[in-house]
Amino acid sequence: MADIFDRFAPLMAQRDSFFTEAGADPFTVRMDQVISQTEAMIGNRRTILCGTNNYLGLTFAPEALKAAHAALDDFGTGTTGSRVANGTYVGHKALEDELKTFFKKDHAIVFSTGFLANLGVLSTLMGPDDFIVMDADCHASIYDGVRMSQAQIIRFKHNDAADLDKRLARLADKPGNKLIVIEGIYSMLGDTAPLKDIVAVKKKHANTYILSDEAHSLGVLGRFGRGLPEQDGVEADVDFIVGTFSKSAGTVGGFCVSSHPKFDTLRLVCRPYIFTASLPPSVVASAAVNLSIIRGPEGGALRKRLRRNAQHLHARLTNLGLKIASGPSPVVAVVAPSPEMAVAFWRGLIEAGVYVNLALPPATPYGYSLLRCSLCAAHTEEQLDEVVAIFGRVAADLGLIERCARKVAGA
Ligand code: PMP
Repeated sequence: MADIFDRFAPLMAQRDSFFTEAGADPFTVRMDQVISQTEAMIGNRRTILCGTNNYLGLTFAPEALKAAHAALDDFGTGTTGSRVANGTYVGHKALEDELKTFFKKDHAIVFSTGFLANLGVLSTLMGPDDFIVMDADCHASIYDGVRMSQAQIIRFKHNDAADLDKRLARLADKPGNKLIVIEGIYSMLGDTAPLKDIVAVKKKHANTYILSDEAHSLGVLGRFGRGLPEQDGVEADVDFIVGTFSKSAGTVGGFCVSSHPKFDTLRLVCRPYIFTASLPPSVVASAAVNLSIIRGPEGGALRKRLRRNAQHLHARLTNLGLKIASGPSPVVAVVAPSPEMAVAFWRGLIEAGVYVNLALPPATPYGYSLLRCSLCAAHTEEQLDEVVAIFGRVAADLGLIERCARKVAGA
């Protein structure tokens, strides 16, 4: 008799052959104790964390902890309601005010996660008569949001502004709005959108807007951490910015900011905003504090350290002879020759005390099998050198790269 899970049988078989047989399953990793932003106990092993997306290391910022503790004491552990029912507290409004100040935009809406922000904004802004022209490498939440919108979905080649232009040109005589959807930094490979070129394309076409998901670039790019639009000097041309508090801001939650005068309409019609519980008071309190740190002088210093760490790791892993998917960025993705080799590599790293993200096709661009590292401003040079030494040893053990073997043996 057929079972309701039967259609997942091939996937589960693949999981068994990859992970169970290899004796390594990333889905079973458990942090038993978090020692700091860059170290945890996994079982009995002290492990360097190199895959957290905690880019600025703000998960333990003392001011944010203090604000979270106070909110917990004053407002309790949760709101037990949605924003439109009983779930809007003074803290949610304060966070939206902070977002407006942070991004210099007229409107800001907080969602319960970044995933919900993309679902909500994309599915509500665009309708059946509209066109969404999105980068092919966009995040799963963008794919799901655009599907929910019922707009016509057109994908353009990753980071190819000329291809975007061509596709928009084909829509020239179609009524309906067009929304270009991109990300500031792409999460898997760490590469950056050619935003200036994309803005130039947008300006050539009527009724065309841009939405940028700054999940991985918030706090990371731009002098004040406002992401790629700030770095590229095109903030006025990016109509909607979506983001998350789950990376640089060190907590959880999502948002969208915009200066479109009718933006707040979303509060009346956006289902993933209306029909879900709002963030707990301690979370919104810590998010607001961390945003104010990100835009201040401390944030600038953290960005500098993050950049230095990214360059350090990228240069040394490259020097070992490993293939890195893109130029230096807070995401350094090492490309393994096959999924099996990536699993073995990942296992070698975790057993030696280094945690990175294992990312396999089809979740990756170009069918890459990746050991995805993400840097933290709080990583020390010593920690990163240890990570590099372990990468070298594991690569050598796997016979992956001769040069690695020579370097590790002969130093
Ligand atoms: N957008 C991008 C580009 C992401 O990488 C992620 C999370 N990995 C999200 C959205 C969703 O964010 P959240 O974790 O807040 O749901």
